Amino acid sequence: MFFLDNQDLTNKKAIIRVDLNVPLDKNNNVTDTTRIEACIETVDKVIKLGGSCVLLSHLGRPKGKDDKLSLKHIVDTVSLILKRPVAFHKDCIGSEAELATSLLKPGQIMLMENVRFYEEETAGDTRFAQSLSKLGDIYINDAFGTCHREHSSTAVISKFFPGKKFAGKLLQKELEVISQIADEGKKPVLAILGGAKVSSKLKILYNLIHKVDRIIIGGGMAYTFIRAKGGTTGNSLFEEELIENAKEILTIAEESGKEIILPEDSLASTDFDNNDKIKTFKTSEIEEGWMGLDIGGESIEKFNKAIISSNTIFWNGPMGVFEKEQFALGTRSICNSLKQAKEKGVNVIVGGGDSIAALKKLGNKEWVTYISTGGGALLESLEGKILPGVKALSDDS
Ligand code: AMP
Repeated sequence: MFFLDNQDLTNKKAIIRVDLNVPLDKNNNVTDTTRIEACIETVDKVIKLGGSCVLLSHLGRPKGKDDKLSLKHIVDTVSLILKRPVAFHKDCIGSEAELATSLLKPGQIMLMENVRFYEEETAGDTRFAQSLSKLGDIYINDAFGTCHREHSSTAVISKFFPGKKFAGKLLQKELEVISQIADEGKKPVLAILGGAKVSSKLKILYNLIHKVDRIIIGGGMAYTFIRAKGGTTGNSLFEEELIENAKEILTIAEESGKEIILPEDSLASTDFDNNDKIKTFKTSEIEEGWMGLDIGGESIEKFNKAIISSNTIFWNGPMGVFEKEQFALGTRSICNSLKQAKEKGVNVIVGGGDSIAALKKLGNKEWVTYISTGGGALLESLEGKILPGVKALSDDS
């Protein structure tokens, strides 16, 4: 894997695969610029090293050319955020596009049209990747959020740049963060996993149990583990077919001296939608007819102790149905404990769609050390997979 560091890019045209898949309102205004901001460092670095930038990205899931999903709508915002002029080209392949990029001077930036206007992109078509490769002299992948896809512009294109392909600054940072969680973080390393189902995080559990020192399991996921330990969980969410897996994970933890930390108590209701009745139960003794929808006070205290005595923390997934104020306290308390940990200098990493939504709703996110930009890509990395886009940068074929 090659990082940009101090490469000499004088007069080189760098094809940079970025992730500009930003949300647009009905007037085509960008409503969240986070992904554009994430490109600044790599673009600045390429320009500082003497090169020019050819930006490739997708936007949405078009079926063929679709004016609504044209990247032309965002070019002014990209320019504003990069604080540099940005030209737009109406295609991403072909002789006109090649001519346009060939004329770029050092320091100049051109954004090409949505790569997904061609169905070949998501099919990982080699000829399409070759056409894209003609737009520049070197290739930089900085689209961590799409690295788990074997698409033409994220993985296949790399083969046309032997010895001239690099990870951008964002991708580099994301890979560093993953290795802090799964390999070299300051111990004790704690993973906090929550959310609805064990099934969506089963592979992560199997991988992380070997890598981290402790795992807190909260949210709906916890009840399958409580049942695996012989508890009764009433009508709480639970996945019968995963009981054996939960038992196996608990055994691996026990045999390898790892801690799996489960909630002691739960706030429960008789109905998911109508929450007139709310009662606290011991999590392993929830009565029939009641479903656990948040962790209770004892669990909050127990989780807080684990959090403030850890030195690297990864959090993914809420502790309860945080969208409802009645069941938001558990997740809010996690945010507060993480804040305390961060104030002590602990590395706090947050990733995965819902934890970010929870952070936005419940906590001020300034205290997080790092928020991953990749949902699926982050989770697949934590499952222990090497992402196709990352692997393609390392293969020298
Ligand atoms: P996930 O997408 O798997 O991270 O799950 C996130 C969702 O899990 C959120 O919408 C929460 O409302 C939901 N959730 C968290 N705890 C529970 C619970 N105890 N029972 C049902 N749903 C839950």
